[in-house]
Amino acid sequence: MTVEPSVISTGIWLLTALLTTLAMEGWAALLHGRVWHRSLWKLHRSHHRAHAGAWEANDALSLLHVPIAVVLIVYGLRATPSLTQEITLGVGLGMTCFGGLYLLFHDGLVHGRLPMKWALRFRIPRLWVAAHHLHHTGGRAPYGFFYVPKSVRDRVREAQQIPVRSPRLTLTTTR
Ligand SMILES: [Zn+2]
Ligand SMILES: [Zn+2]
Repeated sequence: MTVEPSVISTGIWLLTALLTTLAMEGWAALLHGRVWHRSLWKLHRSHHRAHAGAWEANDALSLLHVPIAVVLIVYGLRATPSLTQEITLGVGLGMTCFGGLYLLFHDGLVHGRLPMKWALRFRIPRLWVAAHHLHHTGGRAPYGFFYVPKSVRDRVREAQQIPVRSPRLTLTTTR
């Protein structure tokens, strides 16, 4: 049985996109803890403070990866088919996928910027909300969002902050 080249190339960019989406969680946590909360605190501070407008200076940091992802996807779609081209497309799509999920669940659900309350019916999004709440009240780890390690789950449990029915959706505490 021979496998169509198109199936192989689809498999390559799909797998790359999946792995990139997962890897972006680690990358985002690293940037958040080591850069946003240190040298770029002046910008990130806007995310940890109450503000009236729809936009915050920190949004510039969230949008940083958009042009990179766009360039990778455009290259991946237009370049001559090759392993590099498939991987480049996958990385761009994975970055976009992570960005979209982060936008929906972090900005949308946790910070109430999009109509995402329906997701609170599910246990895992409630855990994300509670874990991110720890970050906003303590100004320290967890810096990641989707991956909630056991140590953080324990802190959530200790603080009894797993929202059951009416979680705080708008977090406005300072660092
Ligand atoms: Zn932060
Ligand atoms: Zn936040």
